[in-house]
Amino acid sequence: MNHKKRIIELFLIAILLHSPWVLFADEAATASRFEHAKASDPQLIAFVKNMPKGADLHVHISGAVYAETELDAAIRSPLFFDPVACRFVPAGTAGAKPAKDMLTDPTLATKFLDAASMRGWFPATMSGHDHFFATWSHMNGPTDVNVMLAEVLSRARAQNLQYMEIMATPLQGRAREAALANPPAVENLEKAFAEMKKRFPAMIQASKEYMDAQDRDVAKRMGLARPITDSGNPIFFRYIFSVDRTAPNEDFFAQMACGMALIQADPRVVSCNILAPEDYTMARWNFDTQMRMIDFLWNRLGKPNLTLHAGELTLKISPVEVMRSRIRKTIEIGHAKRIGHGVSIAWEDDLPGLLKEMRDKGVAVEICLTSNDVILGVSGDKHPFNLYRQAGIPMSLNTDDEGVGRSNLTMEFIRGIRDHNLSYTDLKELARNSLEYSFLPGESLYEKGDSAKLKPEFAKIRTPDWAPTPAAKKQMAASEKLKVQTRLERAFVEFEK
Ligand SMILES: [Zn+2]
Repeated sequence: MNHKKRIIELFLIAILLHSPWVLFADEAATASRFEHAKASDPQLIAFVKNMPKGADLHVHISGAVYAETELDAAIRSPLFFDPVACRFVPAGTAGAKPAKDMLTDPTLATKFLDAASMRGWFPATMSGHDHFFATWSHMNGPTDVNVMLAEVLSRARAQNLQYMEIMATPLQGRAREAALANPPAVENLEKAFAEMKKRFPAMIQASKEYMDAQDRDVAKRMGLARPITDSGNPIFFRYIFSVDRTAPNEDFFAQMACGMALIQADPRVVSCNILAPEDYTMARWNFDTQMRMIDFLWNRLGKPNLTLHAGELTLKISPVEVMRSRIRKTIEIGHAKRIGHGVSIAWEDDLPGLLKEMRDKGVAVEICLTSNDVILGVSGDKHPFNLYRQAGIPMSLNTDDEGVGRSNLTMEFIRGIRDHNLSYTDLKELARNSLEYSFLPGESLYEKGDSAKLKPEFAKIRTPDWAPTPAAKKQMAASEKLKVQTRLERAFVEFEK
């Protein structure tokens, strides 16, 4: 009898091993492991940090780096520390102490770290918004941007990310000054554009050289043989050109023109974004003009992909009037394919109509949970996460400023799990969205963006012994997006083993 039972058991195992149920069994076992991990945050960290997470699409390089990196660079430079302004200064500044004193005087180091990050934010006595935006005045830049990129990309890789889109503008130094000095008047946009076009060739050339050097140097720091923007690496990135939304209109136009010209000229630059606090007076006053300028340039410079911060607002920091159309205008006039934050969505006029438009156009929202909590005080059921989810709007999870916010993408997922009761399937969807709605070029692995429907050559990609056919290899070579999506699907198979 026992013998007979054993034979039946072996027979059933053999069937399972050769059927798609194996995938189901592995995914179900992983989902069950995930449910058990919910017992405590350390268990969740252990689970989520190894889980493949796709991409982080909303990263400010200067906010992603830790203040400790800045402190180390200042001590090694060697710079001086001004304890009143709480920032690093050159030798000879009155009242400044050598930065190396911070090695033996921990209160000095603490003072800096607290001011330069949310470590020193005490919610009972100060505004998270004000403390957050003040951190930039303390992080005044002894750290080389290549060091920052290597730090941020290495940290992402250690958490099983495959790709990043980073707000790190590849137009710096003298080339930046030459391209943006004396910006043309903007009463007549055609004239202003004609003036800017004269500056493009030198600007593009200088930016390419800057990126070439950065590509090699960051890869070297990370021990990678290929340039760091090469999609053959286990992690790579693309640039997003940052434009200051609090700048005068002439400067805004000049910056946006350079950014879009660069997107057209070099595939390493995939988008522009507009940054600085959306509630600041200049940003509020100039918003409509800025959207008109973006629309003008977008139509003349190849209709590039754009992700734009919009709706990072609450009643505490903004009159409700601007929130009634901020996200809609950013999509309809500003041509945003992705919205950064979108926190104020519920205040938009004709909300059902806007949500339908976002669904129809495939506009995704870059959700930044830690950032929204510490800057805006929006978390849990105050956050529109569930509003977007119920409306079927694609979302991805992002870090925004992980160094300043003292977080990382693992913790963003854990916030999502804790605040919005996410399942393992939800986590996978968020990871898949981050590549589907990335600005990597090429066709998707999924039919009509639906991850349940794989392209025919990849139908078996979620089974353990899948290997690409020559036709599949050809498609992977033709589409960077599909190639990286393939990598994510295989990483899931590996994770679920
Ligand atoms: Zn941001």
